[in-house]
Amino acid sequence: MKLLITGGCGFIGSNLIRYILNNTDYKVVNVDCLTYAADINSLKLFENDERYFFEEVDICDAVKLKHVFTKHEPESVMHLAAESHVDRSIDEPDKFLQTNIIGTYNLIETTRNYIDTLRLKNFRFHHISTDEVYGDLGSGNTLFNENTPYNPSSPYSASKACSDHLVRAWGRTYKLPYLITNCSNNYGPYQFPEKLMPKTIIRALNNETIPIYGDGNQIRDWLYVYDHVKALVKVLEEGEIFQTYNIGGLNEKTNLDVVNEICQNLNQIFPKNKDHRNLIKFVSDRPGHDLRYAVDSKKLSKNLNWMPDEDFKSGVKKTVGWYIENKDWWKNLC
Ligand code: NAD
Repeated sequence: MKLLITGGCGFIGSNLIRYILNNTDYKVVNVDCLTYAADINSLKLFENDERYFFEEVDICDAVKLKHVFTKHEPESVMHLAAESHVDRSIDEPDKFLQTNIIGTYNLIETTRNYIDTLRLKNFRFHHISTDEVYGDLGSGNTLFNENTPYNPSSPYSASKACSDHLVRAWGRTYKLPYLITNCSNNYGPYQFPEKLMPKTIIRALNNETIPIYGDGNQIRDWLYVYDHVKALVKVLEEGEIFQTYNIGGLNEKTNLDVVNEICQNLNQIFPKNKDHRNLIKFVSDRPGHDLRYAVDSKKLSKNLNWMPDEDFKSGVKKTVGWYIENKDWWKNLC
């Protein structure tokens, strides 16, 4: 099978492509316009692999997108390209609306016309989205499931919610054979240094203060990126068309828990340094900051037999180790 994957030079996309090329015989066409969040070197290993093709194309450019489809004739699409950082969406919402909404619209229209022209039967369009579309769970024990109404809080989550609605509408109106997954906070190797885990690790390694928004009690469900990409491939291969699957890591932690866990790992690795927790500094909260997200992945585990392999402690340990061993990767991005 030949897959067209958008956003393959980003954090999740590059882990997904690495997993697919190492574990399946699929071919991959990576469509990415290389924003600040991309790193082409994350996939350098596959530069000369005859199963890997790279197209530097912006998904907002419908003409170039159509050309990529005609040239490569993909058999399914996995759509990850997006502007993904909530803080940036508050400062610069325009880009988020362009890529996440108009870009997704271009991609589903191009895919629909391509499927119709070639009369393709088994094509699948897998749209990768976020649990943030459901909004704030507040305190309590409830979890997001696939029927939770959308109630996004930030320009980022609102633009992703819009893209989910577009994909579902194209499914209902034009029979676009879609699958949607909404996942929780990912962490692991190759995550851009602006996100909580890499930022904390890198700042602590540099002996710089570690900023935490508000009181640090915001809760997220942390999902190790390898577990996520395995779930994505499972959904693409075995998921039911026109269905949505939530993907969570079964690890509800506060931001403060996350930072403390990283610091404790660093304290063990560098016992002679002072306690890294002393670097923590509480800063003004993000506007509109949601208190809690937590995901019910029962549908995925029951119907497709998926469970995360990594627990929070083992995942954080691996992530800290990876950033210590791969300074050359993140030094250029900071
Ligand atoms: P990322 O920001 O690390 O990577 C995004 C990639 O998309 C980059 O390589 C970038 O160059 C590319 N891109 C951006 N705009 C583009 C455009 N107009 N045309 C072509 N390429 C473009 O993002 P990520 O963390 O890997 O997230 C991937 C997907 O997963 C996104 O759709 C995001 O909303 C979703 N998601 C991420 C998380 C998370 O914790 N990282 C959680 C839930 C959902």
